[in-house]
Amino acid sequence: MNYHVLTLFPDMVLNGLNTSIIGRAVEKGILSVEAVNIRDYTKEKHGHVDDAPYGGGAGMVMQAAPVCDAYEALCLRLGKRPRVLYMTPQGRVFNQTVAEELAAEEDLVFLCGHYEGIDERALERIVTDQLSVGDYVLTGGELPAMVMIDCISRLVPGVLSNDQSAEIESFHDNLLEYPQYTRPEVYDGQSVPEVLLSGHHKKIDQWRREQSIRRTLERRPDLLEKANLTLKEREFLEELKKEMEGKKRLQL
Ligand code: SAM
Repeated sequence: MNYHVLTLFPDMVLNGLNTSIIGRAVEKGILSVEAVNIRDYTKEKHGHVDDAPYGGGAGMVMQAAPVCDAYEALCLRLGKRPRVLYMTPQGRVFNQTVAEELAAEEDLVFLCGHYEGIDERALERIVTDQLSVGDYVLTGGELPAMVMIDCISRLVPGVLSNDQSAEIESFHDNLLEYPQYTRPEVYDGQSVPEVLLSGHHKKIDQWRREQSIRRTLERRPDLLEKANLTLKEREFLEELKKEMEGKKRLQL
C-alpha cells in the first residue's frame, strides 16, 4: 500500500506516521508514506497558496491551482490516477467498513484542507471520495488522514505481527471485542476470569464471544442489528436483554 498525502504540513504527517507499528511496516517496505507539499506547486512569487473567499466572509480558502498541480504531478510520476480522499467534516463518516474497502487499493491519495477549506473547483476536478472523522471541525485534514492511514494499514497483510489480530477486534463482525487480561493472575486482589486459565480453548472462545455480545449490548446496541449471530447467540442476547430490563426495573 502506498499513501500519498497532499498537505501544507508535510512534517506533521511524516513525524506522526514514521513511528511504532506503521513506522516498522514502512521500514520493511510493506507500506510507503510520502507527503507532497502543496506549497511547492504555487506559482505565486511569495509562495501563497490561499486567498480570501469570493463573496466575503471569514478566513482564507486554499487555491485550486496548487492543489490540482500537485495531484497532476503525482499522477505523472506514478503513471496512474489513484483515488483521492478529501478530508472534510462534510464527508461520509469513516469507519471499519470504509477502512476494509480502502485497504484493497494499491495507492491512496489523502487531500488535507486547511483554513476554510479548498476551492470547490479543485474538489470537483480531482476528488473521488469525501471522508470525515466525525461530526466536529478540526483545523486541518492532517490528523484525519493520519487516523485513516493508521486504521487502513492494520488491515494490510504483514503490518500486524499476527495477521489474525485485526480480524477479531472491535467492529469486526459488528461486535466490540471481549475484555483482555495479562499477567499477573491476581492484581491487587482482583483475579483474571477463571475460564481464561483453564486452557480449554472451546470454552474460552465461547466465553469471549458471550462477553463481546454483552459488551456490545451495553455500550453500542446499535451495532447488534448488523451482527452475524447464530441462533444460540440470538437466544443468549434475548436473555441478556431481559436481564438488563430486570436490573433497570430494580433501580426504579
Ligand atoms: N469550512 C469547512 C466546513 O465548514 O466544512 C471546515 C474547514 S476546516 C476548519 C479545515 C480543514 O480541516 C478541512 O478542509 C478538512 O480538510 C479538515 N477537517 C476539519 N474537520 C474535519 C473532519 N471532521 N473530518 C475530516 N477532515 C476535517
